[in-house]
Amino acid sequence: MRVLICGGGGFVGSHLAKKLYEDGHFVRVVDIKYDNYLKDRYYSQKAVLDLRILSNCYEAVMGVDHVYNLAANMGGIGYITAVNAEVMRDNVLINTNMLEAARIAGIKRYFYSSSACVYNVYKQTTPDAPALKESDDIPAAPNEMYGWEKLFTEQMAMAYEKDYGLPVRIARFHNIYGRGTYEGGREKAPAALCRKVAKAKNQDVLEIWGDGTATRSFCYIDDCVRGVIKLMESDYNKPINIGSDRLVTIDALADIIIGISGKKLTKTYLPAMPEGVKGRNADLTLVKQVLGWEPVVPLEVGLAETYKWIDKMVNGPD
Ligand code: NAD
Repeated sequence: MRVLICGGGGFVGSHLAKKLYEDGHFVRVVDIKYDNYLKDRYYSQKAVLDLRILSNCYEAVMGVDHVYNLAANMGGIGYITAVNAEVMRDNVLINTNMLEAARIAGIKRYFYSSSACVYNVYKQTTPDAPALKESDDIPAAPNEMYGWEKLFTEQMAMAYEKDYGLPVRIARFHNIYGRGTYEGGREKAPAALCRKVAKAKNQDVLEIWGDGTATRSFCYIDDCVRGVIKLMESDYNKPINIGSDRLVTIDALADIIIGISGKKLTKTYLPAMPEGVKGRNADLTLVKQVLGWEPVVPLEVGLAETYKWIDKMVNGPD
């Protein structure tokens, strides 16, 4: 199989490319920039292309069978609450142009990475809010402009299938974590907390955004990659959750990471900093039934791997 991974220089895209490359596929990665967090070569071909430009999308899809589009202007809650227009504009351009290029090229299957941010925020107002099932996107009230764009693009992808017969697969990721962005303002809570703990000395104070009571579920990258490949191999063409249904508070997440580090830290809370919705969990009923997929890496195990790597990046090898 010849596959294209858009966003192959980023977090999920690079891990997905690595798995497909190891499985023996021809893997072309394209990105506007490369994080270079993976040590070994993980692609057959690599290009630097700005996918907001249609002619670059034509070039990217040339000669491939499957497209995985994970390219996006995105970041953690701090980033997506601060940056609105740029996120919407860039992602609408990338996604519109990539769908059109895939249609023209007669791509056999097209994957789109959507997000739990598509879900109605009024269903996420308490820490113990019920886990989100796929139908909880309607009535529409997505999280930030980032979520509105994701919901729009899901619909556009399904319209391309309906009108042009482009087979689409759509995953709604819920907080994927692992070896990926950990600094610079785009990192998400697990990586940000790992970095802060790695930088801290014994008895330091760990700053936690929000009041610590917000809840989330976190899915390790290896589980996510396995889910994406299963979805791509399946016949299911509607949006589906890829995430974990183990709900933890941000405070508990911090405790697990502190525990892994072996440091003695105290915690302080910054309620004025963005914390996103109050409670978000993934309902996995549909994905278990349709794909026979569920995450298997325990949070403590995935976080230990992630912390070990971020610690090395921040403090250098022991
Ligand atoms: P990431 O930022 O690490 O990867 C996205 C990649 O897209 C980056 O490498 C970036 O350089 C690239 N990109 C941005 N603009 C581009 C452009 N104009 N042309 C070409 N490439 C461009 O983020 P990620 O965590 O790997 O996310 C991958 C996908 O999954 C995104 O669509 C994201 O919205 C979605 N998602 C991720 C999570 C998560 O928890 N990581 C959750 C929900 C949805």
